[in-house]
Formats: sequence, structure tokens, C-alpha cells
Amino acid sequence: MNNNKLRNRMFPREENDSSFEIYVSELIEMKRIEGPAVTGIAKQIVTKGVESLSEPQIKTFIEFGLIRGNYVEFCDRCAEEIPWSEMFFALDDEYCSYCRHLIEKDD
Ligand SMILES: [Zn+2]
Repeated sequence: MNNNKLRNRMFPREENDSSFEIYVSELIEMKRIEGPAVTGIAKQIVTKGVESLSEPQIKTFIEFGLIRGNYVEFCDRCAEEIPWSEMFFALDDEYCSYCRHLIEKDD
């Protein structure tokens, strides 16, 4: 996995896109963030935004907050990039919401 790409994804592509911050707040809520340092960074992302982080904080969060079990880059079925807004569900099955919908319809 390319950490630089992940770093870029943390910064909103459009103004008022808070999907990453919402995702991080879901991770905190579901206790998927471990350790006081990473938890502190996660809370800062939610309250002050990604722009408020220092480079070392960004690196720490990618390594310990995202890569270890909290990030799925591509959908397992269609290989499309998983958006932050769908990431939380993709942690379980590695599908985007479109594919999950198709699969559930087949059942
Ligand atoms: Zn898909």
C-alpha cells in the first residue's frame, strides 16, 4: 500500500467534504482506535480537521490508526476505490456499497 496516496486521501478533495472526519469519528465510537497517542490524533481530526495535524501526526495515524485493520483500499468485487463514506462497512466484507447491494439482492 502506498502511504503517500493514503495521505492524500485524508485531505478532502472538495470543500465541505467531511467524509473522512465522519469515518474517524465512527472508528472512535466503535473503539477501533487503540493507544492514547493515536486516539488523541483521531479526536483532533474530528474536532479540528486533518489540516490541523503535523506531518508526524499524519504518519502516526496512517500507520497505527488506518493501515492496521481500518482501511480497505479497493472493493474486492469491482476493484473500485472504497470512498470514506463506505469504509466502515467495507472493513467487514471489503465490498463497496454498490457490490454489497448486488450480492445481497442475489441471495
Ligand atoms: Zn464494488
